[in-house]
Amino acid sequence: MRWTRTFIPTLKEDPSDAEIASHKLMVRAGLMRKLTSGVYTYLPLGLRAVKKVERIVREEMDRAGALETLMPILHPAELWKESGRWDVYGKELFRPVDRHDRPHALGPTHEEVITDLVRREIRSYRELPVTFYQIQTKFRDEIRPRFGVVRAREFTMKDAYSFHPDEQSLRETYMAMHAAYTAVFRRCGLHFTAVEADSGAIGGDYTHEFMVLAGAGESEVVSCGCGYSATLERAETAPVRPEAGPQSAAAMEKVSTPGMKTAEEVASFLGKPTSSLIKTLLYDAQGETVAALIPGDRELNEAKLRHMLRVDAVTMADPERILEVTGGPMGFSGPVGLEGVRLVADSRVEFMHNCVVGANEQDCHYVNANLGRDFEAAQFGDLVVAREGDPCVRCGKPVSIQRGIEVGQIFELGTKYSKSMKAHYLDQAGQERDFVMGCYGIGITRTVAAVIEQSHDNNGIVWPASVAPYHIEVLPLNVNDEPTMRLAEEVYESLTASGYETLLDDRDQRPGFKFKDADLIGLPFRVVIGEKALGEGKVEVRNRKTGETTKIPPDRLLEKMAALLPEEVREGRAHN
Ligand code: ATP
Ligand code: MG
Repeated sequence: MRWTRTFIPTLKEDPSDAEIASHKLMVRAGLMRKLTSGVYTYLPLGLRAVKKVERIVREEMDRAGALETLMPILHPAELWKESGRWDVYGKELFRPVDRHDRPHALGPTHEEVITDLVRREIRSYRELPVTFYQIQTKFRDEIRPRFGVVRAREFTMKDAYSFHPDEQSLRETYMAMHAAYTAVFRRCGLHFTAVEADSGAIGGDYTHEFMVLAGAGESEVVSCGCGYSATLERAETAPVRPEAGPQSAAAMEKVSTPGMKTAEEVASFLGKPTSSLIKTLLYDAQGETVAALIPGDRELNEAKLRHMLRVDAVTMADPERILEVTGGPMGFSGPVGLEGVRLVADSRVEFMHNCVVGANEQDCHYVNANLGRDFEAAQFGDLVVAREGDPCVRCGKPVSIQRGIEVGQIFELGTKYSKSMKAHYLDQAGQERDFVMGCYGIGITRTVAAVIEQSHDNNGIVWPASVAPYHIEVLPLNVNDEPTMRLAEEVYESLTASGYETLLDDRDQRPGFKFKDADLIGLPFRVVIGEKALGEGKVEVRNRKTGETTKIPPDRLLEKMAALLPEEVREGRAHN
């Protein structure tokens, strides 16, 4: 492609709404433009990168035996009512109404549509297992669209759904998808980790998120050198056992703490460390009020509380409810004498002695409260948000926390949708059974952004060859110099004919300007053709990533590129 014949509107300035590197660079390098909040047009260069990721995903899905389909974006509301998600999906679901006043949904994901298809078309265990996938535009009215296409309202996703006779068959496909995802993200040149994630549902189904480690990520990943890794929502860590033996229990005493509500305020008022406080947090767990005890210097992890209580949702109790069950105002709740409420505790509380707790009375706390003597808890477990340096649950070594961008998720759904939507097959004995299902998503456009997030420098994008819009840029320094241009054309033709996707910067611009743009759009290699090197019978080959430059005679160029950019590298099966 010739630069003058395509459309690459590069910009000097960062767009004012861009906070992260990939967003800035995708706009500046002329890959995309915003239409409205969270909605983008892909320009020719950007679209090429998107298609590269799509191709890799397609190849790996096909290899895993998944069947490509294309489902509608417009869904009748009835289908979403059948699954029960019409009422729980909330505002993220776009709900257009047609001319007959019939409500619809714009698909944010396609469990309902595929389950409807399969329940009509597949009858027998003989047709199972089967996996369908599609690559398609998704709509989600995100509360906070930001970071360009990382969190958009309209974006491209690959979604796949598998149907099985039983759990074992599901687990086999799940593992195959895990392997396919690993291959996809490797081929895209990403550093990523597959982490155990929280499913949000009771008990916690089996699910992994594929996280690209990047400072701009919105998710946090807890990991340990031993191989343990999990999302912050899910990550368990162990309590630190105190080195000293048990302290002697001092006499409990009620003290005045006027107006001191937060753990920090109470601790500093009493001249004690925040870690000697026990926070008593009252929650409404689907009708039951529960008190959760955690160390004063930690935060409660609601997902863990949900799992411990085996409920789908927990919400903080309101001040009226707190007054009703504890007899005291919010901020002064404590476990001593608290009756008629289930008390659960973080395991770390078991190792705390002579603690400060609320006295269930305005402006009062107890000091030297002790578990076992002054209060009890019905259940212990890990209830707090993991922290950098906490002991790993598996090996006890300190864990670390990094930020990540979720590029994909795989999920064992079980019979959730087949039950609610009455999707059955007949087993070997002629018995009707619910399909067992799995679902698997990859954010295609988010993956392109994640690649840039991980691979850029101050001057622009540094594309891995597998996702780069073109492999090589041919850059004649002076398009008005006849011998320069003649050679540039020849080089461009021969590279293109040999299968390299090549961009010829044939613009009549100063070299400095063209170099800046070349760095910005970040193709893996640049071949510079200038009068001076030409005088020596050479062209210059520059590696965008390493900055390494070599001068070679033009007739050695193909040989050189074959070494630098073999097919395995262009396909992402190897990286240079
Ligand atoms: P997140 O927690 O980031 O909102 P999610 O759990 O809602 O993601 P899924 O429903 O699992 O995401 O969707 C599958 C994939 O689609 C995600 O792994 C992500 O790569 C991509 N994705 C989800 N929401 C968006 C969005 N708003 N913009 C771009 N890509 C998205
Ligand atoms: Mg989401």
